[in-house]
Amino acid sequence: MRFGRRRNEASRPWRLSAKLLIASSVVTIIGFSAICASVLLDMRRGEEALARQTLENLASGIDADIGRNVELYDLSLRAVASSMVMPEVKDLSKPIRHLILFDHAATAKHFGAIQVFDADGQLTVDASTLDPVPENRADEEFFKVHRDRPDTGLFISRPMLHRGSYAIVLSRRITGADGRFLGVVAGSIRFSYFHEMFGRLNLGLADTITVVRRDGTVIMRVPFDLDVIGKNIGDVAGVKRALSEPSGWYSGQSVIDGMSRLYVWRDGTKPLVVLVGKPWSSILNLWRKEAIRIGAIMMALVLFMLAVTLFLAREISRRAQAEDKLEELATTDALTGLKNRRKFDATMDDEWRRATRQQTPLALLMIDADHFKAYNDTFGHQAGDQVLIGIAICISDSVRRAGDCAARYGGEEFAVLLPGLSSPEALVVAEKIRLKVQQWSDESEINTVSIGIASLTPGATIDWSELVGAADKALYAAKANGRNQSVLASIPKLSLVA
Ligand code: GH3
Ligand code: MG
Ligand code: MG
Repeated sequence: MRFGRRRNEASRPWRLSAKLLIASSVVTIIGFSAICASVLLDMRRGEEALARQTLENLASGIDADIGRNVELYDLSLRAVASSMVMPEVKDLSKPIRHLILFDHAATAKHFGAIQVFDADGQLTVDASTLDPVPENRADEEFFKVHRDRPDTGLFISRPMLHRGSYAIVLSRRITGADGRFLGVVAGSIRFSYFHEMFGRLNLGLADTITVVRRDGTVIMRVPFDLDVIGKNIGDVAGVKRALSEPSGWYSGQSVIDGMSRLYVWRDGTKPLVVLVGKPWSSILNLWRKEAIRIGAIMMALVLFMLAVTLFLAREISRRAQAEDKLEELATTDALTGLKNRRKFDATMDDEWRRATRQQTPLALLMIDADHFKAYNDTFGHQAGDQVLIGIAICISDSVRRAGDCAARYGGEEFAVLLPGLSSPEALVVAEKIRLKVQQWSDESEINTVSIGIASLTPGATIDWSELVGAADKALYAAKANGRNQSVLASIPKLSLVA
């Protein structure tokens, strides 16, 4: 049988500490992880910003070069177009006309010779020769566009095979003074121009440069792929924006190779838009390596910290259990398992203060084995011990409320503290104990106990020794009256008897 063992509540803070340790470790880990994640995100944003800036500079350079060349060539086309409508020019000899028409014409190794076609598409003037081979370009897109839409301005064709090499044809309408369509002046910029310019750049493996006409037609692309040239990518959401906004960036998947890139474009007001792209994998390559390195170190630290925390928490709760055990041992009577005298005094202190504060009665039973010396003398000390254990069992079986305290007061004396009980109520408990002891020891030698009972509501001027004194007195009275009985203390001088 286990006797009224109660865990000591005072040891709880230890257990709280184990939880506190785990909680603070978890909070620290979360905090460090958050800082780490924020630093990594910042680094990532930095890489993105740097890549964007680099691509912007690249796009600006390419755009400026293409813009300048197109403008230069366009100036020549305009000059020819306006000269062609002068009536005087028509009447001049071929060499003189040539001189006048192409005097200011831009010439460079990538620019094709400027040609003039009449209203029927027939080649009439060619900058490269005085006697051009007859050819008709009436079916060409650039010719039809100018013929049908007078307001076209500078028209840039789709890339085409022009005079044996790939080129884009730049053309302008020749309009008579009366607004009549008189023909088209056309020239070309060969692909070699783009190849040479892009060849000078130091590009990453999967970096792209795409030159797009305003309607979305791909004029040129690096890496070069003839199948892609002339394709219309105007429907791609990002490209759509690039064609309508002066500058900006977007992140998207290429419709050509499916790779996810950061695309930047610059100055979309010109007839050609330059779109440069860099794969995210290469933008974030260094960052990713760093993130993995930092992440791995962080993970190792977190695991280490968790392991140390769990180890310490286990140690703390082990120690707490040991302390509980020690505490219990220090407050328990070794023979009977009831509380010892020290614990009884401490409990009495607490309960007395509480009863004083709450003005509730506090009852005390003093229990003493009858003729125990004689029993010991007759049956021996060990048998006496067994009786003491039996009495303790009877007591703890009868005293079961949470606040009650049953203790071995000394030798063969026991004390039971019953908070909140009045004298008659305490008498009931006392009688229960007494009868239990009597019934339990129904063998050859009947053991009995005498019980003194006192109950009072403490006042400020008295201390608990008076309660003990009163119960003691009642116990003596019980002994004097013949033993094996419970006697209520009469406490006349204490007006607060319950
Ligand atoms: P009374 O009815 O007046 O109480 O008589 P009593 O013999 O019980 O009283 P007394 O105080 O004369 O004797 C108490 C005895 O209890 C003396 C001692 O031998 C015995 N005793 C005290 N502590 C122990 C103990 O731990 N074990 C045993 N076996 N006996 C004990
Ligand atoms: Mg005694
Ligand atoms: Mg006795």
